[in-house]
Amino acid sequence: MSATAKTLKLPTPHSKQSFEVNKEIRNRRSQELVIALCGAVGSGIKELNDKLQTELENHGYHVEHIKLSSLIIGRTGEETKNLSNFDRYKKLQDLGDQLRQEYSSDIIAQLAIEAISTVRMAEFGESHPIDQPLKVFEKVAYIVDQVKHPSEIELFREVYRNNFYLIGLLRTENERKNNLKEEQIQEPNISELIERDRKASQKHGQHVEASFHKSDYFIRNIGDTRQLTNSVQRFIALIHGTHPITPTKDEVGIYAAYSASLKSACLSRQVGASITDDSGLVVATGCNDVPKFGGGLYDESSTKDGRCFNHGQECYNDKHKSILKDQIGTILRNHNIANPINIAEEIIQDTKAKSLIEYSRAIHAEMDAIIALARTNLDTINKTLYCTTYPCHICARHIVASGIKRVVYVEPYEKSLAILLHGDAIHQSEESSGREDKKVSFEMFEGVSPRRYSRFFSINRPRKDSGGKAIEYKIKDSGHVDPQHLDSYVDYESKVIQNLKEHFPDPKAS
Ligand SMILES: [Zn+2]
Repeated sequence: MSATAKTLKLPTPHSKQSFEVNKEIRNRRSQELVIALCGAVGSGIKELNDKLQTELENHGYHVEHIKLSSLIIGRTGEETKNLSNFDRYKKLQDLGDQLRQEYSSDIIAQLAIEAISTVRMAEFGESHPIDQPLKVFEKVAYIVDQVKHPSEIELFREVYRNNFYLIGLLRTENERKNNLKEEQIQEPNISELIERDRKASQKHGQHVEASFHKSDYFIRNIGDTRQLTNSVQRFIALIHGTHPITPTKDEVGIYAAYSASLKSACLSRQVGASITDDSGLVVATGCNDVPKFGGGLYDESSTKDGRCFNHGQECYNDKHKSILKDQIGTILRNHNIANPINIAEEIIQDTKAKSLIEYSRAIHAEMDAIIALARTNLDTINKTLYCTTYPCHICARHIVASGIKRVVYVEPYEKSLAILLHGDAIHQSEESSGREDKKVSFEMFEGVSPRRYSRFFSINRPRKDSGGKAIEYKIKDSGHVDPQHLDSYVDYESKVIQNLKEHFPDPKAS
């Protein structure tokens, strides 16, 4: 006996077209880009800005340059025209610090957002009501030159979402110093500018080092125009997915490290590492977490879970630093020192005691990856280790001992004494050609950040036509592979409901 298919009695839609609400929503994708630049003082941001502008214009973008220093000068009414280059840099640093201190740490990004809105209205809003947000469909790129504080990046990401990209520009310290010398700035002023730009002593100062690693795309400026152009062209092609571009060995390695970091349940931070051989094959990964009997780390499948969130439910490094503080307080009290608790707290906070890391129960990501290899038949000799954060000095000595020849990292790690303690065996290389044969090379990552990896390298539309021929798309006809809609999801919800009401109303509702 065969089952009889039930035929539902549906009202005929007025037209099939009316039900393609998805297409209508897709057409509301923005074509705007907000690209912020970040690089240490003297790294050649102007050259990057010019290349980006030229390449975007070649592909039909209307480009606007949002220069943050001009906004600072404009808003404060200060004048810098007659100052020497050094005094001008210093004046801008002072003004930026003051604004962040008096208003908020993202105040300069707020000024940039206002400027973007004003420019949009001036360029595209003729006869548009001034108090209504203007939504444009044109290809427009706003190049924000340049960010100096992590809070600025956070605000841009909150406002512009997927349309926001941060490009980090790498350059060796020697070349940056030479560039500043060419601007008629001399030592010790050069060192002062570089250090204050990297990490100011106050919270509201410039923090380029803490901003830089948040980039979506890292470019190494080696003073070669052709190479810089290639990097910029690759970035623009990746945003639009015009033809298949595949990740470099370093991009594969750092993404594997990032992916491994997500396995960590450490209460302090998530760090990941991967080890690759010369062919780029990932042979091991690791993350920071608590080791378990029999080898490896506790994980989601562990029947008896000894990770700190479960085992004692606290961070043991913090716990033992607290015990250390109490011991110091007791000694001070025994010596009849007034305010022993406060002084003990000061000692912990203001000395190297603050950087103590050995009381942690977790092994670090780099150690986990190296030990993972030790449990297999593979070795660590001449391999490359990728890590999401610069290795601490404890991992550094394991890396040296393991025979790994190259380390690539993204985020800096202030507490690390790796170079200070192991400068005899480690070389901090600021350029890929600057490796020393007799030392392990530590290098900053260049390429697509893990943050954008899956979007940039996923297939986003057909790569071949019906006859099997490869399709190459043009940037001017392409949207973004990581799209951002102009309206909120609540607007689209209303649109779907309105569409249903018009074409397929609920009889019970009337
Ligand atoms: Zn470590």
